[in-house]
Amino acid sequence: MDFQFYMPVKIISGRDCVLKNAKLFTSFGLRALIVTGKSSAKNGALSDVENALGESGCAYKIYDRIPPNPTVPSVREGAKLAREFGADFVVAIGGGSPMDAAKAIAMLARQEDGGDIFSYKSTGEVLPLVHIPTTAGTGSEVTPYAILTNDEKQTKTSISAPAFFPRVAFLDGKYMRGLGQETTAYTALDAMSHAMEGMLSVRAGALSDVLAKESLRLLKGELGALCAGVYTDEDRDVLLYAATLAGIVIANTGTCAVHSMGYSLTYFHGAPHGRANGLLLPEFLAVCAKRLPDRTREILRAAGFASCSDFAAAIAPLLGERERICDETLSAYAEKASVNKNIKNCQVFFDKDDLFRVLKRSVGRG
Ligand code: NAP
Ligand code: FE
Repeated sequence: MDFQFYMPVKIISGRDCVLKNAKLFTSFGLRALIVTGKSSAKNGALSDVENALGESGCAYKIYDRIPPNPTVPSVREGAKLAREFGADFVVAIGGGSPMDAAKAIAMLARQEDGGDIFSYKSTGEVLPLVHIPTTAGTGSEVTPYAILTNDEKQTKTSISAPAFFPRVAFLDGKYMRGLGQETTAYTALDAMSHAMEGMLSVRAGALSDVLAKESLRLLKGELGALCAGVYTDEDRDVLLYAATLAGIVIANTGTCAVHSMGYSLTYFHGAPHGRANGLLLPEFLAVCAKRLPDRTREILRAAGFASCSDFAAAIAPLLGERERICDETLSAYAEKASVNKNIKNCQVFFDKDDLFRVLKRSVGRG
């Protein structure tokens, strides 16, 4: 049985785990930069971190200007603050946007980007990272990826480095009690996409499969709550756990064509990341079902669906009305996706025409 598997993140899960493990912060130093967005001040996550840092005698500064789909200027501003403050470590609180931005900030706090952040040397030093997700989707708390908006190439680009694995990830679903229905549903679709794409990756292995299947099983169990838009605390905990499992999967396998195509829907149409993936996933799977039938059936079975159309119908209520985009534009997106490195990562090869057809069937006009 040939496979490789790596997961260096200490995962601490449970109610009030940040406060209960306050002492752990001091193992990374005595000065923290907190990187976050605006919602953590309302959902309790920021005050838990401030209390935990205060209790353990750490000084901290808050940088809360990370926008969704983080930009390079926001990351540079955060890194400047980290350097001026003399931060020993970075605490990221939020969805994938602050969590990814924090990784890039931790990198630039330690090394100059020389003008091109996307050509970062993956062996360079990075400030230690502690991650606290407040959405259940990206799995950034357990991945070595930071995905930033790349205006020069008009897309989103992933920077990958082993040093981007956080030292600790705290999982507490209580921070998601007030998370809106759209973000909850879209982030769950992102997690589903990670588990499915992970199983179709050329790097999929026995252990990543176990985690992907468990993630898909749990997500299927949450589909009723996701469609109803009503969540118990247990639903929140399960969604978060499923997303972290799927994150561990892609940390080992990477993602495939769905993510490559999705970046254009986000960059040019403002589709949230998970929504973009959810729109494309069923038609991507339909192509895989033709070319790799046994594996695709295995994925669908793990996710609790009899067929691709069954799956498409089950997640359609989460997506509502679709973006509709003309052929000429979709052709340009297919071209862009075809040169993305994720394409080579898939067990099924998608050429430009395949990508165009998936885009057309998912968000085509007419
Ligand atoms: P997000 O952009 O981090 O957050 C979406 C929205 O939800 C923001 O307005 C955010 O507000 C708000 N929000 C977050 N937590 C909340 C809470 N508990 N209660 C109320 N509102 C809350 O969305 P995301 O889907 O989690 O992350 C998407 C990003 O992650 C994309 O840039 C994507 O490319 C990236 N990603 C990374 C990986 C990886 O492996 N690193 C994998 C997949 C995706 P504030 O931000 O203002 O708080
Ligand atoms: Fe994703």
